[in-house]
Amino acid sequence: MIKKATILALVIYLFLSILSPISIQAQSGLTILDSSAHAEFPSRLSFNLAAQSDVNITDIRLCYTVDRISHTQITSEVYIEFVPAATVNVSWTWDMRKTGGLPPGSGVDYWWVLEDASGDKIKTAPSRIQFNDNRYSWRNLTEGKVTIYWYKDNDSFAREIMLSAQQALTRLAEGTGAELEKPVKLYIYANTQDLRGSMIYPQEWTGGVAFTRYGIIAIGIASDNLSWGKRAVAHELTHLVIHQMTLNPYNDLPTWLNEGLAMHTEGMLELEFTAYLNKAIAENNLISVRSLSSPFSAYAEQSYLSYAQSYTLIDFLISKYGRAKMLELLLTFKQGSSYDGALEEVYGFDMDTLDNLWQDYVTTSVQPTEEKGMLPALIGKSPTPSTSLLLAKTPHPLHFGVCLPIP
Ligand SMILES: [Zn+2]
Repeated sequence: MIKKATILALVIYLFLSILSPISIQAQSGLTILDSSAHAEFPSRLSFNLAAQSDVNITDIRLCYTVDRISHTQITSEVYIEFVPAATVNVSWTWDMRKTGGLPPGSGVDYWWVLEDASGDKIKTAPSRIQFNDNRYSWRNLTEGKVTIYWYKDNDSFAREIMLSAQQALTRLAEGTGAELEKPVKLYIYANTQDLRGSMIYPQEWTGGVAFTRYGIIAIGIASDNLSWGKRAVAHELTHLVIHQMTLNPYNDLPTWLNEGLAMHTEGMLELEFTAYLNKAIAENNLISVRSLSSPFSAYAEQSYLSYAQSYTLIDFLISKYGRAKMLELLLTFKQGSSYDGALEEVYGFDMDTLDNLWQDYVTTSVQPTEEKGMLPALIGKSPTPSTSLLLAKTPHPLHFGVCLPIP
């Protein structure tokens, strides 16, 4: 008797399975009528759901996950407040003015989980909403793992940026063996004003933002500011590559290594940086490698010097010990090694010995000649009309927005 009942149940189950092999409908009639998402870049993402059942729907949750590089995939769950009913229309808005924003071109995967009074439960298949900046008609150009999005200038503008991006990646690979592992997107706004319109709370000095965890760079490059833009793209692209290849849950990189590699990929050290470096050498005021392992000073002079020193540290390590050792150093950091530990393992010395060796190197090697009057304007000292000039001269406009608060 029990056996017969079991077989009958199995037959019914198989019959129902054949009838609706991919249906998300539960046996009680819990059904999704409509599910959609709507983006209002950069401030809002709205999610809407209509569902019905034979009995009251009692529990609705929205789950979402943001597409980014991470050790663990984080899923957010939102309990939707609503009055239980057999037919429901609910919505939930992610207000980024409260949580911090997402970069243009980022993707959010979402799904719904519902339960009704009879205990039936359904989970919808994940859908993706792209959080695009629809204020502009973007064109795009892809080469290898790099896609450039732009809207203002002609094709040759984008091709020139792409060429310099590819050259930067080649330079980085030649010097260190580091390469992009995942695709990256570059959003080129026509100017800094347009760029700031893409941000929730933009700072006046923001010239661009590298969203390393998303593999996205947003930057304002006017066609008459292309040479600055190409250097900035090379710099930020390096941060994306280094982030991808050294990401680990234990430790990050010393700042001099990360920034030094980015400066090195840009090309020759610019004269304003050299000027600060030469001044510090002359006055015996160099910053120690140990200090340069922490975030750099926000004061302009110390900031310029920190970047200049980091450049020469990379220059020293690559020219003296070679490319293979630099790659080994990055891969050792990927294991979560400490700053001293990684240097000891790869080069056989710690940060203090590196400091001594590098100081000997930098004080005896010839730096490009300082030009009088080349010292840059200090950050924040110029009136607003010269903002673009300031941005072009500011060593690190791009880093103020790197770490967005993540909901
Ligand atoms: Zn940087």
